[in-house]
Amino acid sequence: MHCKAADGEIFIPYARGRLCPSCYINFFERKVKRTVSKYRMIQEGDRVAVAVSGGKDSSSLMHALKKTFPNVEFTGIYINLGIGGYSDECETILTDFLKKLEVDFIVYDVRKELGISVEDFKRTYFKGRLCSPCGTIKRYLLNKIAYEEGFTKLATGHNLDDLVEVLFNAYIHGDVSQLARIKPVLPSSHEKFVVKIKPLCELTERENLLYAECSKIPYRTIACPLSARARSRRGKKVIDKIAESIPYFKHAFFKSHLKKLSRFFEPEASIHPIVECKVCGMPSSTSPCAFCKRLQLVKEVNNRGRDD
Ligand code: AMP
Ligand code: ZN
Repeated sequence: MHCKAADGEIFIPYARGRLCPSCYINFFERKVKRTVSKYRMIQEGDRVAVAVSGGKDSSSLMHALKKTFPNVEFTGIYINLGIGGYSDECETILTDFLKKLEVDFIVYDVRKELGISVEDFKRTYFKGRLCSPCGTIKRYLLNKIAYEEGFTKLATGHNLDDLVEVLFNAYIHGDVSQLARIKPVLPSSHEKFVVKIKPLCELTERENLLYAECSKIPYRTIACPLSARARSRRGKKVIDKIAESIPYFKHAFFKSHLKKLSRFFEPEASIHPIVECKVCGMPSSTSPCAFCKRLQLVKEVNNRGRDD
């Protein structure tokens, strides 16, 4: 692709030349479309739930999908985790954005529905690493809502930087079951697990940010107040340093994992038998499932707090 505009100000190393904002929007949307078809992410008749967080990645994803696939039904799902003013602000931004985009929107507020918030984990042994229970709760609820509402695919805004960071850590720690799960399409291993798709898996964080800016997509600019201390981003810094010397590093790492290595981890994906959680009835590798265990933990701590 080559932009004829003399003022093309956006530089994408592999796009041959500089692009103006309107050519960049085309470039990005074509790439999303190509990724979706390359990995057969969306088929005719699919009902697609898009997990939106209020961040630039998932909002760019929703915007690009809606424009590129006008005949597919897309619905946004947002989990309000009850984090200070942060979660409510994200919800306000999304409500406004998705209304203008004319997309249906499901909001699940954990305070209203479950009577807890992620902040409550501060009083448990998860206090130094709140991203862990938060991630468990998000993943569980997104899948459960998508399943119960009859969606056939659940799309998330994970970008190439996210996936390379997870891959990098998984290789360092030899986390074989994680290595088996990092894929553009995660097939369903149980009727209650909705197929997960990652249409931005070959686009970088910077490319998503540029698309959000060029398309004037509103997104939150503040980071989650709980994640700063809890989440170590050392891996990401190392990867960015490597990419300064080897610009194609992230793409190459992800591609060789997918094409050459991931099949060796495949047996690991099916090694853990799936059981039904005796509390909620959802499939899991343990019973009670991780979600029910975390929920129980927080409820006990909250009740104790009330008794004191
Ligand atoms: P993260 O794990 O925060 O990097 O987010 C990865 C992806 O998960 C995002 O791009 C969204 O698709 C989805 N996601 C994160 N937080 C939420 C949320 N609160 N509600 C719905 N989807 C979310
Ligand atoms: Zn359960």
